Amino acid sequence: MIEARIKQTVRDVNDFPKPGIIFKDITPILKDSVLCGEITAALAEQLSSIQIDVVAGIESRGFLFGMSLANLLGVPFVPMRKAGKLPYKTVQHSYDLEYGSATLELHEDAFLPGQRVLIHDDLLATGGTVVAASHLIHKLGAEVAGYSFIIALDFLNGRERLDVFSPNHFALASY
Ligand code: AMP
Repeated sequence: MIEARIKQTVRDVNDFPKPGIIFKDITPILKDSVLCGEITAALAEQLSSIQIDVVAGIESRGFLFGMSLANLLGVPFVPMRKAGKLPYKTVQHSYDLEYGSATLELHEDAFLPGQRVLIHDDLLATGGTVVAASHLIHKLGAEVAGYSFIIALDFLNGRERLDVFSPNHFALASY
């Protein structure tokens, strides 16, 4: 079962990036090309009943499987980046972190109005990052088709914050 394989392969790193956090390190997954292919296929399978026009991946680990997922679905991939990285004209959305704030950016022509955008990231924690991504998608007149993660930390209740944008949120491995 894919969930067990992911959990066996992900590496827990205690106290990174700060004390008390157990960081789910997915780099051991990236060394296993067979597992990577199975993860991409399983992500696509979970989304099979949803109409998706574009996959948006969140910097930086959301790029790793977001691109292969978009390729498998046969739809465009759009990178959502941290401030100051994208070269063309951008739109931004800033959001609060536990300490300080962060900004996500998109190229202003990333989506056509009304397009249905699937947001992909490696991991759902509090949901703050993908909520910000959702606001940014709305700023460009597009819709949130749903959310796709490899891992969800469901004890942090991030999914509750996603329902106002879309009821479609999927993860392959939950804790
Ligand atoms: P959040 O906005 O709280 O849902 O945090 C999600 C973002 O932070 C994702 O881009 C994750 O890659 C990263 N992240 C948060 N917590 C962890 C964790 N325990 N292990 C690995 N990545 C994490």
